[in-house]
Amino acid sequence: MNKPKIVVLGAGYGGLMTVTRLTKQLGTNDADITLVNKHNYHYETTWLHEASAGTLHHDRCRYQIKDVINSSRVNFVQATVESIDKEAKKVVTSDGELSYDYLVVALGAVPETFGIAGLKEYAFSISNINSARQLREHIELQFATYNTDAEKRPERLTIVVGGAGFTGIEFLGELGNRVPELCKEYDIDQKDVRIICVEAAPTALPGFDPELIDYAMNYLQGKGVEFKIGTAIKECTPEGIIVGKDDDTEEIKAATVVWAAGVRGNPIVEEAGFENMRGRVKVSPDLRVPENDDVFIIGDCSLIINEEINRPYPPTAQIAMQQGETVAKNLAALVKGGSLESFKPDIKGTVASLGEHDAVGVAFGKKLQGTKASAMKKIIDNRSLFMVGGPGLVLKKGKFKFF
Ligand code: FAD
Ligand code: NAD
Repeated sequence: MNKPKIVVLGAGYGGLMTVTRLTKQLGTNDADITLVNKHNYHYETTWLHEASAGTLHHDRCRYQIKDVINSSRVNFVQATVESIDKEAKKVVTSDGELSYDYLVVALGAVPETFGIAGLKEYAFSISNINSARQLREHIELQFATYNTDAEKRPERLTIVVGGAGFTGIEFLGELGNRVPELCKEYDIDQKDVRIICVEAAPTALPGFDPELIDYAMNYLQGKGVEFKIGTAIKECTPEGIIVGKDDDTEEIKAATVVWAAGVRGNPIVEEAGFENMRGRVKVSPDLRVPENDDVFIIGDCSLIINEEINRPYPPTAQIAMQQGETVAKNLAALVKGGSLESFKPDIKGTVASLGEHDAVGVAFGKKLQGTKASAMKKIIDNRSLFMVGGPGLVLKKGKFKFF
């Protein structure tokens, strides 16, 4: 009898949790499992703000996929997924086609630019190892070049961060530590550097605890960050950005513009013809696509509703990992027989780092700020390594400088 073919797309948080749990749920003869990922490494998306600022080397944020999967049970294909043909039950990759009986889409997110002119061309994003390396090097080059220009140009040392959501705030926290280092390295007076955060909503970290927002903003302002709240980026140009507040517009010249103002699901999901909202598919409680019961979609490509407030849950690694565990159980039920379970997120909290030694957050219902929050953030980071790769991976890649 032919074994069912399970194909998992993406080796991020959702994909790796699915595969590592699936090999525990299914025996060798139960199914053929294939994992497809663009690179031979997994990166911790949740640490990319550090690699992008240059406060943590990108190699610390990634590890080899073969080190955490059971290679005798999982066929790992390093390839770029190009399209999904859900009618023919096929995936087209840069390395050829794969047919499936069950598909798990865990391809993560891409920046949402809301059609704002110039962002795709001129702004940087915090999306993967390549973009992080590029941004880190670009910022450093501006500092290295500043004193060599015949006429010093203040815009070289102006960094604009679009969006004061969690990504924007965490990146600003890293810049708060990195900029003094760069100034020292390149003989620059820190007064010449401007870090500007532009946020369209009436507050930073919209929806978060007001006391913690105040703490985060005061802390970052103390590190030299200027906030322009209630101000939207309208356009990005080779020279900088155009912002708008009420009826006024202003140009800010900046050599570095970082777009951290939201994400959408991987375009492959939209292109495959799944019904979606900004690339995210509203999945059934068992995490399958309502019209395609052989396809599971998880992580940033999925949309699940928080019934308490009737709004989508924000896409997080926390949810992607929990979804991976549920999908593994549900695939095992489909292959071996049994009933499928409904996914229920267990939100343990949210902590945003403000550089290496500070943070704000709510964990297990308790508000935290300062070094305690920062220690909690590192525990969360280590836990995610543990969940995928056990104690060995924590020892290899974990964060242990708690205070
Ligand atoms: P990902 O983990 O992003 O993985 C997607 C995988 O698919 C990657 O390996 C990618 O290489 C691969 N891939 C993409 N396209 C293709 C293709 N075409 N072909 C083949 N492979 C492909 N969430 C939290 O819960 N806590 C946090 O503290 C937190 N911090 C964050 C900090 C930053 C800077 C950012 C940007 C996000 C943060 N998030 C956090 C959100 C979290 O990172 C995402 O929700 C999470 O990564 C989603 O997991 P995923 O499995 O859907 O996708
Ligand atoms: P987000 O959508 O959470 O925040 C984007 C911010 O950009 C919002 O505050 C929005 O008002 C603002 N914005 C949108 N358009 C703008 C414009 N034209 N000009 C200026 N500001 C604009 O996106 P994110 O911060 O990238 O986070 C993405 C997901 O990842 C979220 O679900 C978030 O919870 C998660 N995340 C979590 C953590 C953490 O838990 N520590 C860290 C980073 C990201």
